[in-house]
Amino acid sequence: MPLSANLLPPAPPAPAAAAARSGPVAPTVSEAATASSSLRAEFSLRESSEEAPPSAPIGPPAPERGSPESASSPAGSPPREPSAPVLPAKPSSSSSSEAATPPAAQEVQVQCMARTRIPTAYGPVFLHVYHNNLDGKEHLAIVSDPAQLDTPAAADTDFVPIRSHTLDARWHDGETAQERITRGAYVSRLSGHSALPAPVPLSPAPALADAPLVRIHSECFTGETLGSLRCDCGEQLDAALSLIAHSPGKRGIVLYLRQEGRGIGLLEKVRAYNLQDLGMDTVQANLALGRGEDERTYGVAAAMLRDLGVGSAGIRLLTNNPSKVHAMRKEGIEVPERVPMVPRDWQLRDAASHTHALPLTAPQTPDPAALGESGWDARSKGATIVGGGIVRSEELERYLRTKVERMGHMLDLPAAKRV
Ligand SMILES: [Zn+2]
Repeated sequence: MPLSANLLPPAPPAPAAAAARSGPVAPTVSEAATASSSLRAEFSLRESSEEAPPSAPIGPPAPERGSPESASSPAGSPPREPSAPVLPAKPSSSSSSEAATPPAAQEVQVQCMARTRIPTAYGPVFLHVYHNNLDGKEHLAIVSDPAQLDTPAAADTDFVPIRSHTLDARWHDGETAQERITRGAYVSRLSGHSALPAPVPLSPAPALADAPLVRIHSECFTGETLGSLRCDCGEQLDAALSLIAHSPGKRGIVLYLRQEGRGIGLLEKVRAYNLQDLGMDTVQANLALGRGEDERTYGVAAAMLRDLGVGSAGIRLLTNNPSKVHAMRKEGIEVPERVPMVPRDWQLRDAASHTHALPLTAPQTPDPAALGESGWDARSKGATIVGGGIVRSEELERYLRTKVERMGHMLDLPAAKRV
């Protein structure tokens, strides 16, 4: 056991924690897993070469297929049960998050089940809900590509929208326009006056000609929803969306992976926080629980990126974490550029000391001179949700420094020490 016992005054609870993990409480069965299993029984995933039937409408969609009547009142006629092509069962029983060797990329299959427009503080995005054959979780892709809202994708031959191939594929014979539109396989903007089902994509779908900004983000309930100041997850999610929204074309992808607590899950993360309160850092706490320093895997993420059309141009990865760059490359996703994500608090301090030329990444980032101490007080309370501002706290500072000093994150520690 890699526990440093002298850091933990009471006896470390590792055996108890291990027992609790295998105790009487059944593993959580998510809705995703339930839905997946029921669907798995009906279909098997079609090869992509079979997804475009000869009679498929390729090219600009026929407006008459998406009549306003068929899509403007989906609530009036409930959509049929989505009969998606379904994935083969996961190859192993490793449903626990024990550190496992990532499966080879070709073994992981993903299926985008639905997509919808979400208006955010940074503009509209398309939320994609994925199923996969590995972990039974509903991983998400948040795609910013606002040109899709204005222009039917097929009208401009130079424009390859960021779209899911598995979502747009024809799922079964006789699929109706309303089925496609209800799951999000539409083009342009959906409204009571416009409903254009997406054409069934060519196979293979054209790859993106550019390398979009991509953030591979792991779920953090405490940081993103509660605004916990133990970590910077909320700020990073917000910063990723902001950076994409302020980039040329506003094109990019945030993969939101359900890998709470670096893959150990919320329950174990809560335990780890208690060990941190006893003096451990985030790495020591995970190890003390008998877990890995970082148990996340990225095979599903790579499969999602491929499904969204990422091709040989690769991605511009928003991260400080070298392991994510290596993981993507190992999965065959090119990373021609890594775009750093400097904590906003550190940006401010570096800007103040003129040691850093990086621009502030969010327009709402307050000017430190104008903010004043009262402003910091107001900002420092849980302002980590999307659309929020800057946060700082002693615990967050310790966490950020741990990521740099213990986990190899590629950031310069701020020059100025906070008062
Ligand atoms: Zn977090």
